Amino acid sequence: MPQSITDLLSLTMPSPLHIFRPDWPGAEGLNIYIKRDDLIHSVISGNKWRKLSSLFNDSQSLPSHIVSFGGGYSNHLHALGYLCKTLNINCTVIVRGDYSKNMTPMLIDLKHWQINIRFVDRATYSKRHDKRFLTQLRHQYDDALIIPEGGSSSAALTGVSALVDEISVDFDYILAPVASGATLAGIASSVSSQKTVCGIAVLKGNQYLESLVSELMPGPQGNWYVDHRFHGGGYAKQDVILKDFCHEMQETYNIPVEPVYSGKLFFALKNKIAAGEFAEGSSLIALHTGGLQGARN
Ligand SMILES: *Cc1c(COP(=O)(O)O)cnc(C)c1O
Repeated sequence: MPQSITDLLSLTMPSPLHIFRPDWPGAEGLNIYIKRDDLIHSVISGNKWRKLSSLFNDSQSLPSHIVSFGGGYSNHLHALGYLCKTLNINCTVIVRGDYSKNMTPMLIDLKHWQINIRFVDRATYSKRHDKRFLTQLRHQYDDALIIPEGGSSSAALTGVSALVDEISVDFDYILAPVASGATLAGIASSVSSQKTVCGIAVLKGNQYLESLVSELMPGPQGNWYVDHRFHGGGYAKQDVILKDFCHEMQETYNIPVEPVYSGKLFFALKNKIAAGEFAEGSSLIALHTGGLQGARN
């Protein structure tokens, strides 16, 4: 029998579901669980694997070349690069900005894995959704499979919904960080409408994030919303309070988080609990989407 992709990549699947009992005001009356997608793999972390997984279901028919897009710290490019290296797939990444003279840890890993890195200026990068540009790329890289920035396509939703199916306990709320919206859309399109799906925006974008999420969902949308109070000014903006909080998560609860995604998710969780936003006695799932590599300097 051919090996499954999960075996080839040595992934921990299903990811663990851990009970979480924080010493936070208001948490006593709730059942809190963490879906530890950060533990799926040390490199192919969390939701970036979920979003890519549906493209790699069959180890017998893998693409020969993949092209994708991202910034210099992208968790998506990091996961994709490792995956291509391990599965022997040619990979070209189109990176926004020229990092050739100051390579980030993420890009140094890609180089190590023999990924073809192409630095482009903002104007070129802005063509990443342009049909003509994509056709041209496909021809240039022998009929490559082109994956959008962040791995966020409608195909990504199937992979994300698998994580919902893995959850073996009953729950009322599920929380996840939101950037491109595909993770939230995948969850919202696969849970029943009695459950509340809560996205924590990690970047500024009232309404804009909502439309990204709903545009990705073809069918019923369930009961979801995006909370815009916790992005702290944007992606890489980190204040002292958030930094201290990340430290507390590690030291007190042994849960590694970073200030771009998971730190904001748990910080939001703590504040929402304190504000009494979850009914007494209800059960919550917090999705740890991984992404620790992005916090390296
Ligand atoms: C990309 C990423 C997200 C955001 O997921 P979207 O599907 O783009 O909304 C959340 N957490 C981590 C760790 C990520 O790398």
